[in-house]
Amino acid sequence: MQRFYTASARSGLNTNDEESFVSANSLNIAREWLDLIRAQEVPDRLIVIEQIDSGEVTSLCDCGCHGFDFHVPRQAFVRPLQSETRLFCELAFESNFEDEIAVLLFVDAEGYLCRFDVTYGSANAEAMPEGILATRLKYICFSKR
Ligand SMILES: [Zn+2]
Repeated sequence: MQRFYTASARSGLNTNDEESFVSANSLNIAREWLDLIRAQEVPDRLIVIEQIDSGEVTSLCDCGCHGFDFHVPRQAFVRPLQSETRLFCELAFESNFEDEIAVLLFVDAEGYLCRFDVTYGSANAEAMPEGILATRLKYICFSKR
């Protein structure tokens, strides 16, 4: 019996995964950050997981951070997040480098995740260093309604 695997529609992405820079933003790196976020005790975690699992990365930031845009299709079973501001929550992690990593989850006007900022150090002044890893969660803050 034959099995078919459907590749999801990510053809618009220029992932540039070939070994060049480990630190360069890529779809694989974005998926790793999504996996890390899934594992955290974020507010409305089940809804966040639903949205991450049903959505997809739509574009990658190329400024040196690991940020990316995200789109969650509007489907009946995917619930929106309740958030007073577009910034749904912020996570800070210690890293294997000197500075910490900030991860910001943004929602659109309807409460669906639309962007993830993943930056190193204060105010995104430096690019993500090659080989950086989140080693420990420092805090999660959010402005839930
Ligand atoms: Zn960026």
